[in-house]
Amino acid sequence: DAPAASNFIRNIIDDDNRTGKWGGRVETRFPPEPNGYLHIGHAKSICLNFGVARDYGGVCHLRFDDTNPEKESVEYVDSIVDAVRWLGFDWNKDGAEHRYYASDYYDKLYQFAELLIERGRAYVDSQSAEEMRANRGSLTEPGKHSPCRDRSPEENLDLFRRMKAGEFKEGEHVLRAKIDMASPNINMRDPVIYRIRFAHHYRTGDQWCVYPMYDYTHCISDALENITHSLCTLEFEDHRPLYDWILDELADAGVFTRPLPQQIEFSRLNLTYAITSKRKLLQLVTEGHVDGWDDPRMPTIVGVRRRGFTPDGIKLFCERIGVTKVDSWIDMSVFEGALRDDLDDKAPRTAAVLDPLKLIIDNYPADLTEECCAPVHPHHPEHGVRTFPISRELWIEREDYSETPPKGYFRLFPGNKVRLRYGYVIECTGADKDENGNVTAVHCNYYPDSKSGTEGANNYKVKGNIHWVSAAHAVPAEVRIYDRLFKEAQPDAGGRDFLEALNPDSKRVVSAYLEPGAGNAEPEERFQFERHGYFVADRYDSKPGKPVFNRIVGLRDTWGK
Ligand code: ATP
Ligand code: MG
Ligand code: MG
Repeated sequence: DAPAASNFIRNIIDDDNRTGKWGGRVETRFPPEPNGYLHIGHAKSICLNFGVARDYGGVCHLRFDDTNPEKESVEYVDSIVDAVRWLGFDWNKDGAEHRYYASDYYDKLYQFAELLIERGRAYVDSQSAEEMRANRGSLTEPGKHSPCRDRSPEENLDLFRRMKAGEFKEGEHVLRAKIDMASPNINMRDPVIYRIRFAHHYRTGDQWCVYPMYDYTHCISDALENITHSLCTLEFEDHRPLYDWILDELADAGVFTRPLPQQIEFSRLNLTYAITSKRKLLQLVTEGHVDGWDDPRMPTIVGVRRRGFTPDGIKLFCERIGVTKVDSWIDMSVFEGALRDDLDDKAPRTAAVLDPLKLIIDNYPADLTEECCAPVHPHHPEHGVRTFPISRELWIEREDYSETPPKGYFRLFPGNKVRLRYGYVIECTGADKDENGNVTAVHCNYYPDSKSGTEGANNYKVKGNIHWVSAAHAVPAEVRIYDRLFKEAQPDAGGRDFLEALNPDSKRVVSAYLEPGAGNAEPEERFQFERHGYFVADRYDSKPGKPVFNRIVGLRDTWGK
């Protein structure tokens, strides 16, 4: 991988290394909640967290932030592990695996809560949710103290223990940090840190009926894991005082030593024509608008993987968009451009006819088959050549023939000459039609001394150059032409119903003919189909000899043109 460009986060780390704050140690974490499949926004966070750790000789922890028992599952955990590995990152250092679960900290989190209670820094509140909301105040008005705020530590401890023992109903009590009901930052107005939930957790089962809140759990998990730089998205900026308050209190109590992990916020990725919210992606799946989390139109990691996007292309994209403090929308064409740049250099070339029309070379002997050859990659002669047969009947693209050609059309029309790419020069003589006037076959004659790669080839100067496959040898394939899932750039902006922005033409399936070599593709093998774009053999549905291809992206950015 190329060295990453500097950014404000790397500058902070460089400063810390200069001052010796962490003794040169860099430990980051990627903390997904296992409540859905990762999406391209998460890829930005993964590239940042794992990339920083790699470049500074540190380690990035994979931490499952699993404190919402109702929504989380092992299926999601497994999919997240797969996605991060597929992107090319790992969480091992010096033989140790740094995979963690916030749920493994439940005991500690609970003990620390008791400690905060004992130190007068937390109290059990028995107001209803509505009362708490009403007493929280607003941006212009301070909040009101709860009547429970002055409970003694002994009473709080007793109530909290009984909460844990299951003596109360959900919502009857919560544990709150005792901070400042008049703070201009609403997150500091005695935030809830524990609530009662009689829910089964996918890892701890029914062991707990009190669960810690995100803000309380996250900073403590970071400190327990000795994280140095805790990178998160900008919406957590207002939560940072709380992050610092909790860790400070626990450091004062002797639980943690300073320096304490530092939260640093960066802008989240918003990608046009896509949605980066697990909740909305889940809705697309459960309501059947797409064929699952890994539908090639989904901006999930499994979706873009199935679509044929490469880890290197995704990393290149993340590198190009950089890391800043300013929220913005990144155009989908930037994502597609990074993929194209990655694939252009790597993908072997092949011919595929996606909208087949028969071409008959009338003067080519019916029993003859010859070999043609072409570079596997035009800029990488070291990748060698590929060979494929030519015979009397070929498949060409329907759009490469025109009975009444528009101005500037250099392909097949009666009387015109073109080169069959890597084959012969032919002259079009006419076409057969059915009773409706549709062209059913095009006829031509070839010049036997014009074959590409022979001396005679130079005697023919033609403007048109079309691709083809031999009808008797081509491999039939299902090809899925995907387009953007949404027809609007910001499908969920301003609270709009994103389902109304779904593109009804985002998937088209065609029957194509492939050059024989591509017909044997292994699942996930990628090609450039010459003149068409980049395609991948479907990860699940394609078999060698029975290919199914997905279009990854076209050759150029033609969207909306
Ligand atoms: P969602 O709203 O889709 O559920 P989330 O932020 O709740 O996203 P988490 O599983 O909590 O999902 O995210 C794990 C990490 O990925 C967090 O550190 C979060 O900041 C980061 N992340 C999530 N979405 C984006 C995004 N669009 N751009 C950059 N980072 C993101
Ligand atoms: Mg989250
Ligand atoms: Mg979320």
